[in-house]
Amino acid sequence: MGKVLFIRQQTYNQPEIDSSILRAFDHFGGITHFVSRGEKVLLKVNLVSGHDVTRRVTTDPSIVRAVAKLVLEAGGTPFIADSPGIDSFKSAAEKAGFMAVARELRIECRELTDPVDLPASEGADFKRIQVSRQVIEADKIISLAKLKTHGQMYLTMGVKNLFGTIPGRLKAGWHYNVGLNRERFASLLLDIYLGVRPDFTILDGVIGMHGDGPTSGDPYEFGIIGACVDALTMDFHFCNMLGGKLEDYPLYMAAKKRDMPQCTLSPSDIEGDIPASHVFPGVKLPKTRSMRLLPHIPFLDRLMTSKPVHIPERCIGCGRCAAVCAAGALRHENKRLYFDYGKCIRCYCCHEMCPVKAIEFRESRLVKFVNMLR
Ligand code: SF4
Ligand code: SF4
Repeated sequence: MGKVLFIRQQTYNQPEIDSSILRAFDHFGGITHFVSRGEKVLLKVNLVSGHDVTRRVTTDPSIVRAVAKLVLEAGGTPFIADSPGIDSFKSAAEKAGFMAVARELRIECRELTDPVDLPASEGADFKRIQVSRQVIEADKIISLAKLKTHGQMYLTMGVKNLFGTIPGRLKAGWHYNVGLNRERFASLLLDIYLGVRPDFTILDGVIGMHGDGPTSGDPYEFGIIGACVDALTMDFHFCNMLGGKLEDYPLYMAAKKRDMPQCTLSPSDIEGDIPASHVFPGVKLPKTRSMRLLPHIPFLDRLMTSKPVHIPERCIGCGRCAAVCAAGALRHENKRLYFDYGKCIRCYCCHEMCPVKAIEFRESRLVKFVNMLR
């Protein structure tokens, strides 16, 4: 059996999604292989912030509905959960369509709160990471990730989805602690992934996002649902299939540093409708930094990394950007932003939390030059 199943799926038509999700579980032994009667099952969606479904920022509710129904049929108790960066959970979950699914199926939809220590995995880089108590107490975890580009981390898929298991503002604290070093941030993501160890991952790539993801990019019809037990293998394959360079993918570089077996990819890892050689035409990947050409040196990192810039004519003056900036590098006054680029750690949380695309990236001359050479 291959390690990753890719199913061709062009629309969010519910009966079609139901049958694709059933196929995904059946391929790996069926839902009862993963869920037993009476078990509490966390459905970890991507709810980075509250957006209408058509923006394609969050996991589509049709996928959440299909998985929740299967868990119920297996006798489990599913609950939908995540922890948005800054928004109120209730209104974000309402906008994303998760609350409607919860009401319809009479299941819980709740915020991940109450930080507790995550038992460190073997060889972990970070010895103390706190995730939500609800994650630790769940009997099973099914990660329902969204396929998107990501300004800071290149791509967000199965592994990155678990960063949301860290409650609320603690996430911004981690951005600040890790600073400019993306490979180190990726190492944190690896530790979270290996500590949380979801039992199954579904990737919603029916319509994902490219360009300025994870919240300000454009929808892209990938027409695919991914399913796997090990999200690392799936994420690395997908990076390749999108035409990305694995050396530009911080998660891959962090895994390579640990000599993880998932870094050795084989076309036979993949089964289903879409082979490893599949090409997605015209996908725009982030060019915010060149990982490969220089080692991590804080001074060079700033020069090698695009900086966030304000687009005042789009700004509605909500102040979310300044509120989320853990580095204290951003001040908001009367719809004007003042960046302190010397303090800025290029985490792009301000960009991520802006509801109206009023923060963009500007490539430094050095980044432009390096990207021209590639
Ligand atoms: S200004 Fe934006 S990119 Fe820079 S540290 Fe603050 S939130 Fe991160
Ligand atoms: S840049 Fe975006 S997040 Fe910041 S104040 Fe303007 S609209 Fe709000």
